[in-house]
Amino acid sequence: MTDEIEVTTVEGVPTAGDVPTLGGMPMLGYGTWKLEDPAACVDAVETALEMGYRHVDTAQAYGNESEVGDAIANSHVDREEVFLATKVWIDNLAGEDVVETAYDSLEKLGTDHVDLLYVHWPSRSYDAAETLAAFDDLVDEGVTDRIGVSNFEPDQLAEACELTDAPIFAHQFECHPLLPQQHLLDACEEHDVHPVAYSPLARGSVLDVPEVADVAAKHEATPAQVSLAWLRQRGVTAIPKAASEGHIRDNWGSLAVRLDDDDMAKLSSIDRTERQVDPGFAPWN
Ligand code: NAP
Repeated sequence: MTDEIEVTTVEGVPTAGDVPTLGGMPMLGYGTWKLEDPAACVDAVETALEMGYRHVDTAQAYGNESEVGDAIANSHVDREEVFLATKVWIDNLAGEDVVETAYDSLEKLGTDHVDLLYVHWPSRSYDAAETLAAFDDLVDEGVTDRIGVSNFEPDQLAEACELTDAPIFAHQFECHPLLPQQHLLDACEEHDVHPVAYSPLARGSVLDVPEVADVAAKHEATPAQVSLAWLRQRGVTAIPKAASEGHIRDNWGSLAVRLDDDDMAKLSSIDRTERQVDPGFAPWN
């Protein structure tokens, strides 16, 4: 990888500066899928920013880019301090549509660029050469600083890395103790791409896994914090979604959790596999 990952335990209440970063991307971000009520979405994103989160993940498909933009504008945090990521939906991946809808996203987000723009899925209108050429154009035009992909199979990641002029910066996929995805981490390592875990709490399913609960009890932490610490210590950026202030704070507290080798081994040995996000158009289906 391009950066050394130094995972440290934070003393006291973590601040934004306590979050390790990879190539400018904070390794703990804030996910916004299903924050559908506009006022609640603005409130939640603002709460996360005020707490210290500096990486916000949205998508055209979430229907909340305007609210995310409003939250950033309302908060005390400057836009320049926020690592802002969005994703181009599968209906918009023909070349001209990529460009047109990326500009629409900027307008909704109230910004002149995003830090990271992902191909949301390699599906429907995705055509590797045409779609990725348009993403390269958007880098040249300053619309996005970086290109990301999401839900790619290893061969599709390799192909994307071949095709783009700008490097593929990140690959976002489902990852948590019930879906460790070692083969995708290996593919990221091979191509010098940062892995980003979506559904890092398995949408709630990790919370009552006995091994996770045991490690949590040992550290006087919560299962959510353990799942997030496990990802970070594997070099994976996590973007948990939480609507309530309590959950937003709980996840932030994961920065104070440092797992030992026994904990890591125990979590990696969980003999149960569960995928949460599995649409018919996924490349593995
Ligand atoms: P997640 O973050 O694994 O789980 C969210 C669920 O866990 C919510 O029900 C939330 O409840 C609950 N929760 C959050 N923190 C908790 C805590 N500390 N203790 C107990 N429960 C807690 O699932 P996700 O939303 O699917 O994934 C996270 C983000 O990844 C998304 O928001 C989105 O930005 C991204 N994503 C990307 C893709 C893709 O295709 N690229 C797919 C899925 C997700 P409350 O909301 O009630 O607090």
